[in-house]
Amino acid sequence: MSAVIMDGKALAEKVKAQIREKASKLRRQPGLAVILVGDNPASQVYVRNKERDCAQCGIMCYDYHLPQDASQEDVLDLVEKMNNYGAVDGILVQLPLPEQIDERVVLEAIAPDKDVDAFHPENVGRIMQGQAYYKPCTPAGVMEILHEYGIDPGGKHCVVVGRSNIVGKPMAMLLLHENATVTICHSRTPDLKAQCLQADILVSAVGKTGLITADMVKPGAVVIDVAMNRNEAGKLCGDVDFAAVSQVASYITPVPGGVGPMTRAMLMENTYKAAKCRIPK
Ligand code: NAP
Repeated sequence: MSAVIMDGKALAEKVKAQIREKASKLRRQPGLAVILVGDNPASQVYVRNKERDCAQCGIMCYDYHLPQDASQEDVLDLVEKMNNYGAVDGILVQLPLPEQIDERVVLEAIAPDKDVDAFHPENVGRIMQGQAYYKPCTPAGVMEILHEYGIDPGGKHCVVVGRSNIVGKPMAMLLLHENATVTICHSRTPDLKAQCLQADILVSAVGKTGLITADMVKPGAVVIDVAMNRNEAGKLCGDVDFAAVSQVASYITPVPGGVGPMTRAMLMENTYKAAKCRIPK
């Protein structure tokens, strides 16, 4: 059997076109402030991609680049300014931040109604309660992919590998809210293979190339690879051994071209939602 490859890139293009259409009907352009601190090359690429997505969706991107040695105060001042800036609907602080800055303090300083990444404790709490206005971008992107391919998590056993605050935990919550039975695995899970073999839907969000092999996947399972790793040749890849697992799974996301583009599309969707709420009709 050869799995259906779930095309996150094509879906993201479709979603972004819909956002452009919706955004054009608002009385002003939605605005997203993107704050980058320091010189992390990967972060610079992510920020450039976000600028491109904004342009595609008709969203105004306000870019702020602070130096590597910026103080926590500098970042908090800028966040405060963006909280009060009328043309800015959403604020994104690109992570990771340099070590002198406490990430938690910065994320908590973002006004919850502009927190389009959904990392503020108020929004995290709403996610737990199933009352999220902003869904966290990566898990929301995964859910959109499942919906697009007609895969209903309801009544299924979903295994999420990884328990980070930005991916694993909220991923488990979104699946739970759609009536899945969810198991969360992590680095201290004793027998990962046995857990993964239980999965009707397996989501891997670890960051270890080759972690998920074909013998860990139940025949016919849906496999979602969230990870973005570099292999020895420097090529972008996920956690899943794609070639072998695609012979066992029924559906699978590729890396690149799977969850990554949908994460970015969901950021645009959240920015549109933020604007819609703030702009008078
Ligand atoms: P993270 O904060 O480093 O979390 C990794 C998780 O994996 C942790 O919960 C860790 O367990 C668990 N883990 C580590 N080794 C394991 C093992 N051998 N078996 C089972 N679990 C193990 O990473 P993250 O921020 O969640 O990101 C995860 C991956 O997704 C990375 O590759 C990242 O680049 C990618 N990512 C992709 C997107 C996208 O748009 N596609 C967005 C965000 C992140 P402990 O908690 O016990 O340490």
